[in-house]
Amino acid sequence: MNLEDITTVKSILSQPQKIVIIPHKNPDGDAIGSCLGLLNFLKGKGLQVTVISPNDYPKFLKWMPGSDAILNFEKENSQSKKALEEATVIFTLDFNDLSRTGQLGAVLKEKEADFIMIDHHQQPSDYAKVTYSDVSMSSTCEMVYNFIEYLDGLSDITKAIATNLYTGIMTDTGSFKYRSTSSRTHRVVADLIDRGAENMEIHQNIYDTNSPSRLHLLGVALSNMVILSEYSTAYITLTQEELDKHDFKKGDTEGFVNYGLTLEGIIFAVIFIENKEEGIIKISFRSIGDFSVNEFARNHFNGGGHDNAAGGRSDISMEETIKQFNSILKTYKSQLNP
Ligand code: 5GP
Ligand code: MN
Repeated sequence: MNLEDITTVKSILSQPQKIVIIPHKNPDGDAIGSCLGLLNFLKGKGLQVTVISPNDYPKFLKWMPGSDAILNFEKENSQSKKALEEATVIFTLDFNDLSRTGQLGAVLKEKEADFIMIDHHQQPSDYAKVTYSDVSMSSTCEMVYNFIEYLDGLSDITKAIATNLYTGIMTDTGSFKYRSTSSRTHRVVADLIDRGAENMEIHQNIYDTNSPSRLHLLGVALSNMVILSEYSTAYITLTQEELDKHDFKKGDTEGFVNYGLTLEGIIFAVIFIENKEEGIIKISFRSIGDFSVNEFARNHFNGGGHDNAAGGRSDISMEETIKQFNSILKTYKSQLNP
């Protein structure tokens, strides 16, 4: 964030404001962690703040400090709309285009308020008064830590704030192993531990709360995996029927896509998940090295994200989607050739 933006933010937050904080649709640990970290920080400054999520989020994030107060735009629609109507400042966290908030996007597009974006995805849209965008960052949570530092607020980081920010950095870096994890990321995390984040407990809350049905669904996903060695690619499909059979709950498929990359020689991993209710196939893309899944998702599957982790969707059937994927893959043969 440049000096001008810092001055603008300081001046905005020095006045009485009604603040709303919004993560992207289907929020993950970084989206929820950054919203709750910022919520707790701004509340500590005596500001009136509400977090509104575009839709529900996984149970394994519902222990996070402050999560009880999150409004679900789909389920608590009138309460959410009221908070939005009154809002004078809107923070949008962990996304950079209003379309990433689903139905909520239409409301936001019409809304007159000071928008502040904090985000680390590629190609930000131009809707905010203050755009703090940095694609080199490990996570939006690391950026919220920086944001707090810019406001001279590090000493106000409570255990609740530290816990939320630690959780988001941990989940978005694959537990501190992805390329975007810098020495600075580790310094930030160390400081968060010093300020009360209980690292072992957080890991357990996120990763060791599986249900038997989720592990069985993972078994199905792994046995459905198709390996295309000539393209250094592995993909997984999960149909609605398979999800239903294993009592699918939001978040149950989180992380499944990464298994493809644990195969020797595989640099491109994909998971296709059928969602009959929305009439789409939700797709997650992951890569190792220079193959940009952001570009792949953006160019072919109506999505985007980061160079090594992106998402998208398809509006045709699973069978047709896989056919389409296979034929697109042929055009990338030279990039994906071992
Ligand atoms: P995931 O595959 O875990 O849902 O998402 C991977 C990354 O891509 C995340 O950073 C997420 O925000 C982004 N992403 C997921 N789906 C979409 C999408 O449909 N459009 C865009 N632009 N980004 C997405
Ligand atoms: Mn993120």
